[in-house]
Amino acid sequence: MNAPIAIAPRPTHVSLKPLPITFLATIFVVLVCASLMTIEVWRSWNAHDIALRETEIATSNLARALSQHADDTIKEADTVLVGVIERLETDGTANASLERLHKLLIQHIAELPQLNDLSIYDENGLWLVNARSGPIPLVNNSDREYFGYHRSHSSRGAYIGPPIRSRSTGVWIVTVSRRFNHPDGSFAGLVLGTINIDYFKNYYESFDIGRAGSIFLSLNDGTMLVRRPMVEDAIGKNLSNYPIYRDYASRSAVGTAIMRSGQDGVERLIAYRHLEQYPLFVTVARSKEEVLSDWRADTYLHLLGAMLLTLALALLGWRLIHQIKLRLLAEADLLRVQESLKSLNQHLERLALQDSLTGLANRRQFDSALRDEFSRAVRTGNSLALVMIDVDYFKQYNDIYGHLAGDECLRQISDTVKASKNRPGDLATRYGGEEIAVLLPDTNLAGAVAVAEKIRLAIYNLQIEHPGDPEGVVTISAGVDAFVPVRDGNVPFELIQAADRALYAAKFAGRNRVCSSADLR
Ligand code: GH3
Ligand code: MG
Ligand code: MG
Repeated sequence: MNAPIAIAPRPTHVSLKPLPITFLATIFVVLVCASLMTIEVWRSWNAHDIALRETEIATSNLARALSQHADDTIKEADTVLVGVIERLETDGTANASLERLHKLLIQHIAELPQLNDLSIYDENGLWLVNARSGPIPLVNNSDREYFGYHRSHSSRGAYIGPPIRSRSTGVWIVTVSRRFNHPDGSFAGLVLGTINIDYFKNYYESFDIGRAGSIFLSLNDGTMLVRRPMVEDAIGKNLSNYPIYRDYASRSAVGTAIMRSGQDGVERLIAYRHLEQYPLFVTVARSKEEVLSDWRADTYLHLLGAMLLTLALALLGWRLIHQIKLRLLAEADLLRVQESLKSLNQHLERLALQDSLTGLANRRQFDSALRDEFSRAVRTGNSLALVMIDVDYFKQYNDIYGHLAGDECLRQISDTVKASKNRPGDLATRYGGEEIAVLLPDTNLAGAVAVAEKIRLAIYNLQIEHPGDPEGVVTISAGVDAFVPVRDGNVPFELIQAADRALYAAKFAGRNRVCSSADLR
């Protein structure tokens, strides 16, 4: 069984007018300019993201390096504390043992540049030994925060306290301390290492973080230990209400954030990282404005370049479109001139083939039409007919009414002949003075006689007064001939001759009549 054949719908032809070239050129120029600017803006935005991303990585790396540094710095001090405690708990706190420890502490201080001081306190907060030469100051440190901590906590781990001003040197210090116990496990005192805040400060100042950049080293509870730039009031300040602590550093060990400072209004890119071994964290902040300053300068330069290029393109495009418009106008002008020349030519051609008085074809046109129609009749085997008309007594008409009136009469007669033709192919010609020839292709003798008779009657009916004509009005005589020409047997002139002869016969027979060549046989 045959499958049903699906007939595709005939495509409907919608005739779309082509868009003008100037419109397309304008669209092209606008598109090129817009693309150029779009690409430039996109490139700049991309460069902006890259600059921020690179800064984020660099800031995170710096936070990592600083946390490692803080870890190492504290660890070195703490290791000393562990060693001293081991000695204390082994050798006790007798004078001889304290003497040896004193020397050891001095040695450690010399070795570790971060250490401000090393001290040992008894359970009442009195100084047992420190790392200085000379008498031990009679200062009781039982009021210090770290002392209270160790006295009330049995933990033997290191304790890092809030920053304080040293009672022995007067500088800002960070304390690292460990407790030591009596043999029964009760609190026997503590060993304290103090780290000069300047040690961190100097180190932090060796990094290029811009003018609005900052570095913090803080305890996990938000207490600030070190700050770059250094502001005395900020040391020991609690950051727990700062968004970077509240929303970030207190919640995760490491991270980055972009936020605007509530104090100076500067937007910063911040990286933070907690130390691996001690309850501290480091924060590094870079001003977004400073980070992007190179990018901004670069972008301004690029955008300026792109804008100049776009402007140049737009100007060039505008000039080109203007030129195209001018050319199109010139082309349209040329076309108009061509058209008018053509119609002028046609007019001249018509004039060259027309008789100026009557508007009928002239002899030249008749001769060529006769040649053409004759050859065609030879080819087709159709009959070709010719009617020769001559106005009767026209010399007298001129004599009576004058030559101008004669001309007007000829015009009227010509119009009447024109109106009496049946077919578009028929050709009425002013053959000579007041003689008119009508060439009738595809017409036999009877048909031509009928046409001639129709013309004669029409002219008679014009009733143009003519006292010189026995009829009293202008009349014509006509001679008609028609035959089927034979190749190499006939020539066009034969048709004229025969029609002329018939005309002569009509004149001879009394005028105002039609004679055909048949009447002569
Ligand atoms: P018939 O034909 O009846 O024998 O007499 P006729 O007087 O018409 O004689 P013929 O045809 O020989 O005369 C031609 C005359 O037609 C000569 C001339 O005066 C006149 N004629 C020829 N051409 C023009 C023309 O262009 N204008 C005017 N007004 N007259 C013309
Ligand atoms: Mg004549
Ligand atoms: Mg005449």
